[in-house]
Amino acid sequence: MIRLLALALMLLPAAAQAYSLTPQQIAPGVYMFEGVTEHFTRDNMGDIANTGFIVTEDGVLVFDTGPSRNYGQSMRLAIGMVTDKSVKAVYISHHHPDHFLGNQAFADVPIYALEHTIETIRRDGDAVTDNLYRLVGTPMSGTEPLEPSALVTLGRESIGGRDIELIAAGGHGGAGHADLMLLDHGSGVLFAGDLVFHDRTPTTPNAHLAEWHDALNQIEQLDFRVLVPGHGPSARSADPVQQTRDYLLWLEDHLQQAAARGLDAAEVLYLELPERFQHMGVLEQEYRRSVAHLYPEIERATLQDARTP
Ligand SMILES: [Zn+2]
Repeated sequence: MIRLLALALMLLPAAAQAYSLTPQQIAPGVYMFEGVTEHFTRDNMGDIANTGFIVTEDGVLVFDTGPSRNYGQSMRLAIGMVTDKSVKAVYISHHHPDHFLGNQAFADVPIYALEHTIETIRRDGDAVTDNLYRLVGTPMSGTEPLEPSALVTLGRESIGGRDIELIAAGGHGGAGHADLMLLDHGSGVLFAGDLVFHDRTPTTPNAHLAEWHDALNQIEQLDFRVLVPGHGPSARSADPVQQTRDYLLWLEDHLQQAAARGLDAAEVLYLELPERFQHMGVLEQEYRRSVAHLYPEIERATLQDARTP
């Protein structure tokens, strides 16, 4: 106990607020930390995304590091509560700040990511970090964007007695290979990152919708038994994939119809949203952000079509 306390004091800067992270076991040796299905606030300390880890004989594999340095440190402490194994490697799903800003807490181990993720963090890391300081405040204290240190090798590999597959797709973080997933074949757990949302409205700041649908089809072909979405509870079915697809198909069709009716963005923002999505967290806020992200292009394409004889 004293050792743990000393470790806590060493890891946490004096003024930092601690996150109370409880590892949720979802399969033997596989855990997730479940974020709340809200937008970033000072109250939730930015803890809105899921992260997780897998214990192998050679050490612990971490999937995503959360929204702040303090979160990453809290993760590491919580991992230490369930295993004596040290952290062996970290994998970052994509470049959004709620998934990688805990990297500083893992600076002593390789942090793997796709090239798109590394380049985007290099380019936009400071701006997205500033934005989280604005939204979350004090819990961000000491957080700086730390770029992943190594390019991930895709494919299937035996790591510490586990059969791990790293899979690239795209559509949420951008076009091309912008989203990384991790499938542990033995337990059947798939960490899908933000390609899948569950009971939480999908975010679209960098979305490429056609590729996102390809990725959802690809996920359904994978041999998983437990699905860990980027946001929202885990599931023992592909239902969250269908929920994400349903919302994205509705969103695109809804915006296309609005453009065809000649509505301007200000009008589209306040249209009524379907009953079947009302249970999803952050619905109105994410819908309005999506109008800002997606409507200008959809409007342009619709007008272009109308002018083509
Ligand atoms: Zn996210």
